[in-house]
Amino acid sequence: MIRVAFTTLGCKVNQYETQRIIDSFEEQGFAVVGFDEQADLYVVNSCSVTQLAEKKSLQIVRRAARQNPGARVVLTGCFAQFTILRGERVGEAALVVPNTDKMRTVHYVLDAFPDIRKEVQRDPAPRALSTPYERTRAVVKVQDGCNVCCSFCSIPFTRPRMFSRPAHEVLDEIRRLVDEGFREVVLTGVLIGSYGADTGSGGVDLAGLIQQMARIDGLERIRISSIELTQVTDRLIDVCASEPKVCPHLHIPLQSGDDGILQRMNRPYRQQDVLNLAEKLYTKIPDLAITTDIMVGFPGEDESAFRQTCKVVESVQYARAHIFRFSPRPGTPAAQMEDQVPDAEKERRSHELAELCRRYRERFVAQRLGRTLRVLVEGKQGKGGLMKGLTDNYVSVEFAGGAHLAGQLVWVRLLSLSDDGAMGELVSTLGGHEDGRLHLLPNRAEADTLYLRVRG
Ligand code: SF4
Repeated sequence: MIRVAFTTLGCKVNQYETQRIIDSFEEQGFAVVGFDEQADLYVVNSCSVTQLAEKKSLQIVRRAARQNPGARVVLTGCFAQFTILRGERVGEAALVVPNTDKMRTVHYVLDAFPDIRKEVQRDPAPRALSTPYERTRAVVKVQDGCNVCCSFCSIPFTRPRMFSRPAHEVLDEIRRLVDEGFREVVLTGVLIGSYGADTGSGGVDLAGLIQQMARIDGLERIRISSIELTQVTDRLIDVCASEPKVCPHLHIPLQSGDDGILQRMNRPYRQQDVLNLAEKLYTKIPDLAITTDIMVGFPGEDESAFRQTCKVVESVQYARAHIFRFSPRPGTPAAQMEDQVPDAEKERRSHELAELCRRYRERFVAQRLGRTLRVLVEGKQGKGGLMKGLTDNYVSVEFAGGAHLAGQLVWVRLLSLSDDGAMGELVSTLGGHEDGRLHLLPNRAEADTLYLRVRG
């Protein structure tokens, strides 16, 4: 049997694509093993969103080659695309598959390595079945490509083609996933809000796709992985507000809160647009969690510009934020810009912002202590017999419970803050709606009172 191992760096789109590539190798009779195991073939689905991501991709390729000198290492993903665009060779990679053609990686392998083709046809491996705990949240890619061209971003180089998957194909896939036991689907794309614009979807936009998904029996939760601010339309907001299966959680990258920096980033919005949208969303979607990505140290970002970003965080009060330090990407306009910020200053700002965002993440959780929320239980039983899962609005909750709860929707009362979310107690394993409808906090004032009382 030919053993093949996979590893993925980067975004949910990459994770989804690896899963589909794995399926194609299994269909051809390859045996899929863990990346730390001995294999005949190692496939690295790489990332190039930052310098660090590229460095990690290269390190993993080299480690795989060292791990089993007789094996072949295959490199695909955004970093692979960049090496092709830059005419660079990665000596340890026996094969580099363009990111734009990665879904055909197995065919590249069978064409490039006749000995492997012969062996896999002579002795195909039986298909492996996934375990219950792996069947919790399914990531489903619906769109690819981006044409926004933010001045710091290399993705338009590595994912140039904009396309939407046909809606019927996406819905069929989701029905299969529900039949396999998945209760939540996370929709992902590079510029997901443009789903349907090229009408590869058959004329359905993102809001329309979600409405059709909501009619699938057995699908309990629909989550949008990340969406650009300008693509959060009134139509989408209305669907998120009115469809109980849509999780009250939106990840909307901010990047910066300063108008001057947003202009240099070529981001199509300004500070006031962020504040207006947040106010509209909190009004229309009860119990909503807004999470975000923020970049510090963009060229030209001085102390006052950084303060503007902090001001937006204090106003929107994000439930969770990922902080990135600007990393110049070859070929992007921002890499050539003057006024590059020293690394030490980037570090100082990212620490300060991370501390500020931690306080608002805690505040979001504390406002919900004492409440019973629905949790999708993930993974295996952890230390001290604790199970872990996410609420509809993306709070990470740990509670004492049996391993059999993996993959199930349960009700957990939030009791106290934890390092990453909340500690809770299991109230019910009936995954339906609490007293027939989703329990909602009337308004934020009451929430603040609860928070202040909890923080004492
Ligand atoms: S929207 Fe901007 S940051 Fe996002 S993928 Fe497109 S160019 Fe990159």
